[in-house]
Amino acid sequence: MSVNNLSPAEVTRYSLQIALEKWGREAQEKVKSSRVLLAGGGGVGSVAALHLLATGVGCLRVVDQARVSLAELNSSVIYRERDLGKVKAAVAERRLKEVNPFVLVEGHGKALSEHNVTRLTSGCQVLIDAMGSSTAGYILNQAAVKHRLPLVHARVWEMDGVLTTFWPGQGPCLACAFPSSLPERQPGLIGPLPGIIGALLALEVLRVLGGLGPALVGRLLLFRGDSFLFREEPIRANPYCPVCRHLIN
Ligand SMILES: [Zn+2]
Repeated sequence: MSVNNLSPAEVTRYSLQIALEKWGREAQEKVKSSRVLLAGGGGVGSVAALHLLATGVGCLRVVDQARVSLAELNSSVIYRERDLGKVKAAVAERRLKEVNPFVLVEGHGKALSEHNVTRLTSGCQVLIDAMGSSTAGYILNQAAVKHRLPLVHARVWEMDGVLTTFWPGQGPCLACAFPSSLPERQPGLIGPLPGIIGALLALEVLRVLGGLGPALVGRLLLFRGDSFLFREEPIRANPYCPVCRHLIN
């Protein structure tokens, strides 16, 4: 049977027939009706977006004010040379729609700020912080705490990457783990690294959306590309955290 000959509704039914033991129709329906904010359309964000849309996330809202640069073409796989200088969010919206024409993709080429975070996170079930920016990260964290939303956080640099899920009320928030600022990292990274972290990020988001529950609340997962080793560090909620302490029993 060719999917090309099917109507959108039939495609949905067709995809739902590919049920996994731990991922059935109910999980897929939840994913289909979900809305996700992706802050950061770079390497990690672009790979995560590809997987989320291919799996059928109903709406993906991409926020990034930066423009496509030559230095990131080795790692941000949705961009092409002809995109250089264009706003990432606009290019991402156009290209990601090709991945799955039956879902909604919104590109917002603006900086995440205290003035627009409420509007941009409105209706979202999961927030993704793939910006690599302390400023944007803490603004998103404020929204996650306010609405008790999971904030899946990823950063990559050189040959290393980290991934965790902050879920205020269920575990630590970003400010519990990094009270003052995110660690400073050198720019530049090996090409496939965002693919590794971005795919894991997408899997974690799908776990949350599909009802399997997050894997990384209270766990900071670290991948070292030079040794091919994963390790993890515990992160605990800080009862004195100025942002989320009112949610900690
Ligand atoms: Zn906190």
